Amino acid sequence: MGKYWNEEIECMEPEKMRALQSERLVKQVRHVWDNVPYYRKKMEEKAVTPDDIKGIEDLHKLPFLSKADLRDAYPYGLLAKPLSDCVRIQSTSGTTGKRVVAFYTQNDIDLWEDCCARAITAAGGTNEDVCQVCYGYGLFTGGPGLNGGSHKVGCLTLPMSSGNTERQIQFMMDLESTILCCTPSYAAYIGETLHKMGYTPDDIKLKAGIFGAEPWTEEMRQEIEKSLGIKAYDIYGLTETSGPGVAFECECQTGMHINEDNFIAEIIDPDTGEVLPDGTKGELVFTSITKEAFPLLRYRTRDICVLTRGKCKCGRTLVKMAKPMGRSDDMLIIRGVNVFPSQIESVLLKMSNASPNYQIIVGRENNTDTFEIRVELTDEMFSDTIRSIEELERKIGQDMLSVLGIKAKIRLVEPNSIPRSEGKAVRVIDTRKLV
Ligand code: ADP
Ligand code: ZN
Repeated sequence: MGKYWNEEIECMEPEKMRALQSERLVKQVRHVWDNVPYYRKKMEEKAVTPDDIKGIEDLHKLPFLSKADLRDAYPYGLLAKPLSDCVRIQSTSGTTGKRVVAFYTQNDIDLWEDCCARAITAAGGTNEDVCQVCYGYGLFTGGPGLNGGSHKVGCLTLPMSSGNTERQIQFMMDLESTILCCTPSYAAYIGETLHKMGYTPDDIKLKAGIFGAEPWTEEMRQEIEKSLGIKAYDIYGLTETSGPGVAFECECQTGMHINEDNFIAEIIDPDTGEVLPDGTKGELVFTSITKEAFPLLRYRTRDICVLTRGKCKCGRTLVKMAKPMGRSDDMLIIRGVNVFPSQIESVLLKMSNASPNYQIIVGRENNTDTFEIRVELTDEMFSDTIRSIEELERKIGQDMLSVLGIKAKIRLVEPNSIPRSEGKAVRVIDTRKLV
């Protein structure tokens, strides 16, 4: 499986893993206390000192960090190493406001790339593979992270970045790419373009895709697997914890294994901050136990998911996180009802004749929320009779009502009228936020 299959760590006895995490946590807390006045103050406010943290069982005593802290401390306030030891910055894509900057020492970069190499290995990647990386390069962590991981595994790496989709397909064919790395929405678009260009999955050599950086549903996975003729693996991460590779999927595709030798995961109640038991849905919190330059402790991701422990069929014992439903701040509250865009995607893609291109438009008229779902017709549907289109509209409306518990106006729109995504998809237009 290559040198990035780390059986000792990935299949470690849970007790041994806790001991390793405890040892690293104790060191990390001391490092942060000594070097990050911002966090030290937070600890002092909670009357905690490094002496109180003797192992992972004391983790709950530490204060949380949130995105607001990162913005407060911008740019250097959470730096734990002299700038002269740092070799890189990366930054969030700014989906939810002002960008956040993270710093890396060379060692941090190595550990991050190792995590990505593990993910590529779990997806079956070896030095025989040709890995096409179409995540954005630059400040966004997607491109640099997978690029580094691909080099470590020894794949022939195609640093394509996103965009220019026909050229992506040309390279994919000419250089016989076997692994594709990009956002799931871009993978769907590449699949769509491949078919539009008159090709089928038999014309390409792709076998696996490593897709992440945004929420995507099981239905979207099936759609992409079919259109590109591959097995699609999920990968998760965020800039604040390094980037992609914090967690990755194995061949069982039943959740993502968290690289617990580098990160301690907790699930908390987002309202009270109380730590919840495994198997309960809540907000994911990470503590980086190996990072040097930007070692966040108990960072609240706002991603909503569930952790499950136990030996996976693949042999790994690393805890698994379910696909995040989205961030707590992606959740729309429409006429008082909580709606996640991923629920809408799931309903749409369950219908055999719907397309993965949709947009959610929320507004306000006469003090009431308006809620419209625009769904793009496929070419075949477009040429159907008006009656069958109306029938489809009615069916989507009914299914949405039963899943969301709220009525949405369904609008079927012409093929190719909804903008495609080359990076993270923008699915929601909420004009209520604009006023
Ligand atoms: P931004 O906060 O600006 O989007 P990042 O580019 O660092 O910054 O994105 C990290 C976020 O992307 C995560 O917190 C999570 O919400 C989302 N994300 C990353 N990977 C996945 C995934 N596999 N599934 C669902 N959401 C993901
Ligand atoms: Zn597994």
